[in-house]
Amino acid sequence: MESRGQSEPVLVAFGSNLGNREENLQLALQKLAECADVSSLHPSSLRETEPVGYADQPRFLNGAVFFSFRGSVQELLGLLQSIEKSAGKATPFPNGPRTLDLDIIFFGSLRHTSPGLTVPHPRWAERAFVVEPLQEIAQALPAETFPPEWKTEIAAATQKLQA
Ligand code: ADP
Ligand code: MG
Repeated sequence: MESRGQSEPVLVAFGSNLGNREENLQLALQKLAECADVSSLHPSSLRETEPVGYADQPRFLNGAVFFSFRGSVQELLGLLQSIEKSAGKATPFPNGPRTLDLDIIFFGSLRHTSPGLTVPHPRWAERAFVVEPLQEIAQALPAETFPPEWKTEIAAATQKLQA
């Protein structure tokens, strides 16, 4: 069998505020689970949150998921965008309502900036609806699975949000 190299641990945050929100998120998790390049999937619980940036829209259902991904960060972005499309993603404007949003928060220890992709996600640490599910996963997973440098960053972001 052809080897595609090592798997990277990744954290993806997700949200939905249009249509059947829980169904949209469950569908996204199911699609990830079906992908041959995805393993060790561990989702957080879901929480209802107030919209950020543009307030006049329905409440979001948010969560995050940890998994191992065999492929490049660009391939992961492509996979997430195809899943967003399959949920009929509609995003009328930035920070506006959407059926499904999937954002790459961390990809191993990668730091990457290009016109279409910034990793780690530039605003993750300011958003409680991202930080809380990440903290939940960090506490649930065994130390050998969860990268220690992520754990430190997530703990710092949690403290800052609570200050
Ligand atoms: P947002 O999530 O910022 O509200 P969108 O979901 O419409 O908005 O995404 C807009 C673009 O953000 C995508 O086309 C993608 O290329 C880009 N992008 C940049 N960094 C990331 C990231 N870390 N994860 C996901 N998309 C990203
Ligand atoms: Mg997005």
